Amino acid sequence: AGERERGPLYRYWFGIKLWKRILAALLLGAIAGLIWDEGAVQIKWIGDLFVRLIQMIVIPLVFATIVSGVLSLQDPKRLGSLGLKTIFLYILTTAFAIVIGMILGALVQPGLGVDFAGAVPRELEAAQPFAGLLESIVPTNPIAALAEGQVLSVIFFALIFGAGLLTAGAKGEPLAGAFHAGAEAMLKVVNFVMEIAPFGVFALIAWVMGTTGPATFVNVALLAFCVITGCLLQVLIVHGGLIKLLARLPALPFFRGVTDAGLVAFSTSSSSATLPVSMAVAEANLGIKKPVFSTVLPLGVTISMDGTALYIALLASFAAQAFGIDLSMVDYALIALTTVLVSIGTAPVPSASLFMLAAVLQVIGVSPAQTALMVGFILPFDRILDMTRTVANVISDLAVATIVGRWEKEIDIEAYKAPPIK
Ligand code: ASP
Repeated sequence: AGERERGPLYRYWFGIKLWKRILAALLLGAIAGLIWDEGAVQIKWIGDLFVRLIQMIVIPLVFATIVSGVLSLQDPKRLGSLGLKTIFLYILTTAFAIVIGMILGALVQPGLGVDFAGAVPRELEAAQPFAGLLESIVPTNPIAALAEGQVLSVIFFALIFGAGLLTAGAKGEPLAGAFHAGAEAMLKVVNFVMEIAPFGVFALIAWVMGTTGPATFVNVALLAFCVITGCLLQVLIVHGGLIKLLARLPALPFFRGVTDAGLVAFSTSSSSATLPVSMAVAEANLGIKKPVFSTVLPLGVTISMDGTALYIALLASFAAQAFGIDLSMVDYALIALTTVLVSIGTAPVPSASLFMLAAVLQVIGVSPAQTALMVGFILPFDRILDMTRTVANVISDLAVATIVGRWEKEIDIEAYKAPPIK
């Protein structure tokens, strides 16, 4: 009693699971974009609004959930073991991705005979040196870091602040309660915003399809084939396999559970914008507890990018083939090493990795001017490749969170195996 009678449309719409609504929006958006062509640009603002809404959540969500997650660890010392396991797994999955990228590049040879004649060179930013990256982790002013949305600094401060609050014991309790409440509230906000996802996804995909279109895509067909195959292998074999081997959990519930996050990653091309959704599915569908998902996922967004690493390794072979450079074993090792560093330093936003390319290509003797030409050649098609590698970036974070959750006994196995809630 008291419940208002809902209309049939309302009941029909909310009766469909969210991921099905998003998937349908994706397919319809693609068709709309193909029909509408360039005109689809007119609805891009709906997609941008959706991306802004989820970006709005990132900083408060990361800050509140990390502090609340550290508090739930009960013992600040556990933070160290959790951190070491996480970083080990992130480097492991990235290494697999690089090997897959190199093998595909050597087998398929997407760069052979490429003609750069039509390309306009692009200006590239200088890659951030590794020491600079380390330095940017420690904020001199945590409030400024929050205000400017510097995720790594926010993570660092939140971890230390959480540990401080935990050590303060009974005296810290009033504030601890506030952080638990804030984290809960932010996760609920993610659910509100996700209700807009079908519309945002429709608009974003229509825009990509209308402006990029499948026709231009043919030009980089081989490269696209390698990126898509590589990311599929990475997700299905490496992530699925590691979940079976290291977490001793079936892989199927994992793939079912991460669908929402994968779809949002695909349509937004930004692992940072996808973070709130990754956190929500980690908790609701995968049963991962707060101490693990709150720390492992934000860290992964910035430092672990499997799809990006795969792509950069692949582009190194592409460049070598296009510019006629013979790669020795030492070159391959150098590419792998710099790719790990570059993928850590890549910003989790659309097309970020293309602009980091110069740092890797330099080690095999490709000049900055040649790199600029290559980036100019690829950039017009990059969106579709970007969407694919962002999915692998996001799923790698969720796979590592699942394994760490299992190792740390911070996962509800019943919830993991149950059908996804979202
Ligand atoms: N767009 C990717 C991400 O957000 C980064 C990249 O590879 O360009 O994860």
